[in-house]
Amino acid sequence: MRRQRRVKIIATLGPATVDKAVITSLYRAGADVFRINMSHTDVAGLSVYVRLIRQIETEIGRAIGILADLQGPKLRIGGFAEGFAYLRKGSSFVFDSDPAPGDATRVHLPHPEILNALKQGDSILVDDGKVRLHVIEASPSRACAVVDVAGRVLNRKGVSLPDTEIPITSMTAKDRADLEAALNEGVDWVAISFVQRPEDIHEVKKATAGRALVMAKIEKPQAIARLDEVIEAADALMVARGDLGVEVPLEKVPGLQKRITRSARRLGKPVVVATQMLESMILAPMPTRAEVSDVATAVFEGADAVMLSAESAAGQYPVEAVATMSRIAEEVETDALYRQIINAQRAAAPNPTVADAIAVAARDVAETLHSKAICAWTASGATALRIARERPLSPILALTPKRDTARRLALTWGVHALETQDARDVEDMVKRACVHSAREGFGEPGDRVIIVAGMPFGTPGATNMIRLALVGDDCC
Ligand code: PGA
Ligand code: MN
Repeated sequence: MRRQRRVKIIATLGPATVDKAVITSLYRAGADVFRINMSHTDVAGLSVYVRLIRQIETEIGRAIGILADLQGPKLRIGGFAEGFAYLRKGSSFVFDSDPAPGDATRVHLPHPEILNALKQGDSILVDDGKVRLHVIEASPSRACAVVDVAGRVLNRKGVSLPDTEIPITSMTAKDRADLEAALNEGVDWVAISFVQRPEDIHEVKKATAGRALVMAKIEKPQAIARLDEVIEAADALMVARGDLGVEVPLEKVPGLQKRITRSARRLGKPVVVATQMLESMILAPMPTRAEVSDVATAVFEGADAVMLSAESAAGQYPVEAVATMSRIAEEVETDALYRQIINAQRAAAPNPTVADAIAVAARDVAETLHSKAICAWTASGATALRIARERPLSPILALTPKRDTARRLALTWGVHALETQDARDVEDMVKRACVHSAREGFGEPGDRVIIVAGMPFGTPGATNMIRLALVGDDCC
């Protein structure tokens, strides 16, 4: 079974999608990767989802990616004596270290290191920015602020601090436990929330030790300030527009989305555009025009994947949401302007390797000869990523002896990954690339395919050859 589009779809699982038949329908409708959000799923739930997805994978016979999304340090205020407080514009309000229930003048902020880090002038945003304050006086155990945007604040609402570099890592104790569980379940990708610095990613990479790849969610201005370093450290990126739109003014999000998408592509790292893409489909079978346009923008931009959150996890039309996203993507990718826009964003690799040169050449040859596929023999997946970076016209058929690699590549633009035994020699490599191309629907007898591989076979980083072959000629 092959998809007719290059961009991938990530569907978040949740209460609306707990049974196997529904998850199978999501896959059939177009979901390539499933996201398990550890903010709303416990370790037992994670285990159930992974088991179901792996069963479906076996039944369908295609590699499916699983992304476990760690909650990260979501900061929250304490409680109020009355369950809430109304903060009036212009009044002062204190965040302190006293666990006593709060009122209209103060509340507990149960994160001593945050109280310590707040400085005069820093913004404090409560409940996704609905109520806004700024600090006028800070000491290590209390911050006195003035209310800029008034509103009612309920117990335990979230707090965002866009101006404050938070002196804690993006991994909480809960994240560590969830990460360990996710690795034991064999997930393919782990996403880290509220990344601020490349060190946050190094820390998670150390804990994963190669058992899963690491995606950095860009949702804080501190990560944007060090964007290239963050991208360099991560295996993939997510433009997490939900929290990003709280931490920076909303009108800056579209420009940042373009910047993050392009930088990630330049550095050859998969990039996901996420949050509220088809938000109205939580309750309605049809999206708004603006949402269709938003998905289309991400596809035109050449994002590797577009993501559904509540639409698939908790909405009333999860399968329709995936099918809608897939239809929009297919339409955009056949639009007369799509190629021109994608090509205009192509940039040379910053430190080109032999593999980059081969990828550029493979795209060029494939386009000159109208090849039906670029077949890449790849152990680690790196060769397929290099070719995907070029955003070639021909689909990429990744042939890998490693099941993990096939699953991880489910996230990557234009890649149809297949687990198959490593090639024995050049003849076998050519022959089986042709056979798989035909079998997977990428070519008919007489069609030309390009084959990229490295000698000696199975050596990561050895990509050094391009072969041309005709399906049904060289191969059978
Ligand atoms: P979340 O991340 O759904 O885990 O908050 C995505 C976002 O912030 O956009
Ligand atoms: Mn978020």
